[in-house]
Amino acid sequence: MGRRASFDTSRLALFVHETAELNAAAGAARLLFVTEGALRRTDSELEALLAHELGHHRGLHPIATTIVWWLALPGELLAHIFAALRRLGGRLSPRLPALTPILAVVLVIWQLCVMWLYYVGKVLMQRTARVSEFVADGAAVQWGYGAELLALYRTLPDDARCGPYGPPGTASIGSSAF
Ligand SMILES: [Zn+2]
Repeated sequence: MGRRASFDTSRLALFVHETAELNAAAGAARLLFVTEGALRRTDSELEALLAHELGHHRGLHPIATTIVWWLALPGELLAHIFAALRRLGGRLSPRLPALTPILAVVLVIWQLCVMWLYYVGKVLMQRTARVSEFVADGAAVQWGYGAELLALYRTLPDDARCGPYGPPGTASIGSSAF
């Protein structure tokens, strides 16, 4: 597979996640994660899955994902502050009903003035993930794994391609994420 992809796979550090779930991920610094569930697949399915992950490495997707994740961190912090303000408002309102409309206005102003950063970060992360999956699939097809990858995808439930897998900075494939 490494020859077909012109990729030195000896430089990869492979980690096996002990779960029956089908999944794999490409991480920064040449990390490659794969689940025991993936290792139980046929050789052709496993190769196709790993070719997809090599596609992530070739496209430097783990690095791009890490950068986007860091860029989105301020928005995540703001979302936590917003949640704390809502909880505070919920606790104060029964004791100080006169404050309720003021707190509501403060929360609306917070949403309008600050939270756009959170939503922009979310959209950026989702867009990056979506584009990187198509690029990784394209690389696997280019290396001759298209039919095997399609066969693997067809074994998965319809709602399989959603949600993150692996730590921040990973691009993934599998039953809960691709
Ligand atoms: Zn992927």
